[in-house]
Formats: sequence, structure tokens, C-alpha cells
Amino acid sequence: MDRRIAVIGGGAAGMTAAIWAARAGARVTVYERNDRVGKKILSTGSGKCNFSNERMSAACYHGGGTALIDGVYGRFGVRETKDFFTELGMRIKDRDGYLYPASGQASTVLDVLRYEMERLAVAVHTGAQVKEITAEADGIAVSADGRDRERYDAVILTCGGAAAPVTGSDGQGFVLARMLGHRIVPTVPALTALRCSEDFCKRVAGVRCEARVTLYIDGQAVCADAGELQWTDYGISGIPVFQISREAAYALRDGHEVTAGIDLLPDMTDAEAEREFWTARRARMAGQTAEQFVTGLVNKKLGLLLLKLSGIRETARVADIPASAGRKLERLCRFLTVTVRGTNPYAQAQVCAGGVDCAEVTETLESRLVPHVYFAGEILDIDGICGGYNLQWAWSSGAVAGRSAAGCRE
Ligand SMILES: Cc1cc2nc3c(=O)[nH]c(=O)nc-3n(C[C@H](O)[C@H](O)[C@H](O)COP(=O)(O)OP(=O)(O)OC[C@H]3O[C@@H](n4cnc5c(N)ncnc54)[C@H](O)[C@@H]3O)c2cc1C
Repeated sequence: MDRRIAVIGGGAAGMTAAIWAARAGARVTVYERNDRVGKKILSTGSGKCNFSNERMSAACYHGGGTALIDGVYGRFGVRETKDFFTELGMRIKDRDGYLYPASGQASTVLDVLRYEMERLAVAVHTGAQVKEITAEADGIAVSADGRDRERYDAVILTCGGAAAPVTGSDGQGFVLARMLGHRIVPTVPALTALRCSEDFCKRVAGVRCEARVTLYIDGQAVCADAGELQWTDYGISGIPVFQISREAAYALRDGHEVTAGIDLLPDMTDAEAEREFWTARRARMAGQTAEQFVTGLVNKKLGLLLLKLSGIRETARVADIPASAGRKLERLCRFLTVTVRGTNPYAQAQVCAGGVDCAEVTETLESRLVPHVYFAGEILDIDGICGGYNLQWAWSSGAVAGRSAAGCRE
């Protein structure tokens, strides 16, 4: 008889799991609490869905699962993902290794997955929030809002984490995993902006600039990233900030002091900055004002802020700037410090770090505690950096969990 499989959560991982389980001959039912599947996919990549990346390695992920990631990607990696979507009819656009649907629409990704589920006669229960999963002698029982209690041969949990709860993933999956006895590695919002104490953030809110951002925990540099930094009225945002946000979130949660050092001249070495910024520029502009001196060096609003923080009047002649104030200005250009007092909440985070302990699942993503229960996607303690890595984990882990739940020997 065909194996009956329930997939809990119709997101990226859940739909992929459902498709691969059904392709392997299982009778699959997807439970989705929203009134439609795949809501989060629509908002990914600013509506364009950066669904994968050619530069893929376990080093692009955090959490407890380096060996697990390698094993899963060895079974279903970027190449298999590209083949999968191509076979579903989606043309792919490669932007310097970042992969998108060529249509420019995240909805394409969702549509092709939905059509394939339809073709495979996957049953989709929407408005069906699963409240309880129990392992019984004759299968795994699933209880959901508005549905009769049903028994399945296997269940795949793909409820996501707690990020962007408006799309349906609000941490419910962790409650279900705990019911089954699993340990949840503490979760924090990740790929999100940092809230800072400095009032000056308001003065430069809206400014975007190239920068290198280094995160310090109790004064020790722990990670850094470079790219377009965005200033907001509450702090700092943008890709380089997103990339370091999980470390900040965990450190703050554990009561550490967190600061970020911002290098506003990321393309210059110290020697170049010294030569270009200080010696040559000062000599050339000796008769001009401090405002003119910073104009063109960095964003104008930022330049004026740096003058203020250095105690230099905008109208002061460059030649008259005291050496100590000049040195301060130079230092601030390379190292503007902000005190991080928090991250943005889950509502404004792209992913949730932490989740189901990877040590408690096998290499084919089956629970080591409850046979025939599988996990895939963000519900596991695995989170990737920005750039298509989180969706790739959803596709890969979904495919592997779906196939092995259906009885394929991986
Ligand atoms: C704004 C934004 C932009 C992003 N952009 C990108 C990007 O460009 N590239 C990238 O790689 N990643 C991106 N991500 C991250 C990526 O979208 C997620 O990592 C990925 O969607 C996780 O997939 P998932 O299937 O594990 O979980 P989800 O997509 O969160 O899906 C989980 C599903 O389970 C359902 N559910 C939860 N609990 C229950 C329950 N008890 N019963 C029934 N159903 C339940 C939810 O409603 C939801 O539909 C972005 C995230 C956000 C928020």
C-alpha cells in the first residue's frame, strides 16, 4: 500500500518535501495554517526571489549542522535544484552567482511548485493549523484546526521558524517539536537590522553608503562584512548589518556588551587613507573650509556628522583645524562606533537562528527520537547568510526529507 505522509507547513521546504514524497509514490497531505501555501516565498528577494547561489558551501551557514548540510547537499544540491526548477518550466537568471527566476517574479517559484503539487495530486489543507502530533503504535497522529484527527505513516515538520510571523511561521513548529521530545536550540531573529543607542543615527537616517561593519562583543572583534550600509533613525541596516546580526542577537541575549565599528573608507588601506585622506587632501585644501574638506570624501550628511563628532566647526579653515581634532576625524572615518542595544524583532527579520537540535536528526533528516518523523527547512537549527542560502536549504532539506519519508534509500 502507498505510504501516507503528512507535511506540516506549506512553505518552501514543505512544498518541496511534498513533491518529492509524491514523486516517490507516497500519498501526501500538506497542512497549512494560512489560507494559501507559500506566502513567504512571495516576499523573498524583494519580490524577485533569490532562490539559490552558485557559491555554495557549509561555511555559508550557522547553527549546529555543518556535517548535516554537507550530507544533504551531497544528495540534493544547487545543481539538482536548478534541474528541478528548470524541469518545472522556470527559466533561471544568474546574477553573478545569485540565482533568480528569469521572470523577475517570486510568484513564478511559488506557481511552479503549486502546479507540480496539483499534477501529483498532493492534498492541500489550508486554514489547517496543526496543534498536536503524537507517535502511536500504528502511525503518527496529526490534529489540526477544522480537521479530523488523522494517522500517517510518516510526518514531515516544515513549519519554518519564528521570522516574519505575518507569513505564518510564528514558532508553532518548535512547540510541536518539543511535544515530540526534541530540544530546541534557543532562537533569535537573524538577517535583520541593529538598533543603536546613538542619537546621531537620526541625523543621518536615510543615508546609504559603502562600509565595512565589524561586530565587537565585550570589545573583541567577532565578525565583519562589507557592502551597502543603510542608516535608519534607530540604527543601522543593510546587507553587511544583516550578515552580522545573528551574532549580535545571541550576544545581547546572553547579556554581553555589543558594539559595531564602521569603516567608511572600506576600499582604502590605512596607508592609502593616511596618504590620500590626510596628508595630500589637507595640503591641497588648506585654504578651504572643513565642510568642503569632507565633501566628496564620504556622503555629505555623514561628513558633517563626523565634523561634529570631532568637534570641528563646518566653517573652520582646514589649515586651522587642531591636529588632535584632525586625528579624531581621521579615526572616525575608519572607525565610527555605535552601541548595539538590540536587533529588530522577528517581525522584521528574514530568518530565525536556532531551532530543532541537528544532533537529534539523522543524515536523511529523520528524528532520532521518534521514527517516521522528519524535519526540513528553517525549523532546524540551521540559518544561512544573505544571498539565496536559506531557500537553498529549504529546497535541499525538503527534497531529502520528502524522499526518505517516502521510503527512498538515499
Ligand atoms: C522578507 C524576507 C525575504 C527573504 N528573502 C530571501 C531570499 O531572497 N533568499 C533566501 O534564500 N531566503 C530568503 N528569505 C528566507 C527564506 O524565505 C526562508 O528561510 C524560507 O522561506 C524558509 O522556508 P520554510 O519552508 O522552512 O519555512 P516558511 O517559508 O516559513 O514556511 C513555513 C510554513 O509553515 C506554516 N505553518 C507554521 N506552523 C504551522 C502549523 N502549526 N500548522 C500548519 N502550518 C504551519 C506557515 O504558515 C508557513 O507557510 C527571506 C525571508 C523573508 C522574511
